[in-house]
Amino acid sequence: MRSPRLLIAVLMAVVALVSYYAARQENPITGKTQSIALTRDQEIVLGLQSMPAMAAQFGGLDPNEAAQRYVTAVGVQLVTRSGLGDSGYEFRFGVLADRRTVNAFALPGGPIFITRALLDRLEDDAQLAGILGHEIGHVVGRHAAERIAKDQLFQGLVGAVGVATVDGPGGGQQAAALAQMVAQLVQLKYGRDDELESDRLGVRFVSEAGYDPRALIRVMEILESASGGGGQPEFFSTHPDPGNRRELIQQAIKERFPDGVPSHLTLGRRRGT
Ligand SMILES: [Zn+2]
Repeated sequence: MRSPRLLIAVLMAVVALVSYYAARQENPITGKTQSIALTRDQEIVLGLQSMPAMAAQFGGLDPNEAAQRYVTAVGVQLVTRSGLGDSGYEFRFGVLADRRTVNAFALPGGPIFITRALLDRLEDDAQLAGILGHEIGHVVGRHAAERIAKDQLFQGLVGAVGVATVDGPGGGQQAAALAQMVAQLVQLKYGRDDELESDRLGVRFVSEAGYDPRALIRVMEILESASGGGGQPEFFSTHPDPGNRRELIQQAIKERFPDGVPSHLTLGRRRGT
């Protein structure tokens, strides 16, 4: 049976697939080929736009200025020593006042936050560098933009399926799609592969900044113990299974330093904040 609607649906599916694969490009920092729907400038704008709502979910910025300076200093050290200062991303670092939710996250384009609850559990600079390095990995890995591209593909395919019953896409639908994307940014659920890539990038950035990357293993232990008490830390909903990740971090360190971690890489002393 020939159906014009079926034909339209097939065409829509083809358009969705073609535009997804046409957007494929190599990431110069990670070397990975990926499909990206947004330009870097769009990522930056989207990140800055969603920043206030995101921060508000975790009590807003922590009023402790020493803590803000500390986190910013370690973050800037990571960015500059890893040669990311001229990468075009607008990195900025902040502490959010939430003392109960153990979490850290990155928004597209550069904003990176850690909650007070997580910061207070850290024992040295290298652990903070480990967390910030992992989040920098999400930014330069362009994981949010990649998710959006995948969602657009998904929506294109869903749209193709739904074309039999729904009228063609209009401006209102596009606006709804954009709103949905921003909502997803706020949830920031990256895939497992994204997390593992960020862990590997974290090992790299932490080492380049002069810190001992083994601190990342300790970070995983701290996160695991944080899950033992009452209240599930949110870090786990966005950062899966620290146990397995510990082994992969070990492996990444071994690959980077086959002869052992050089002695000049330090843990640093946790500054009082
Ligand atoms: Zn992550």
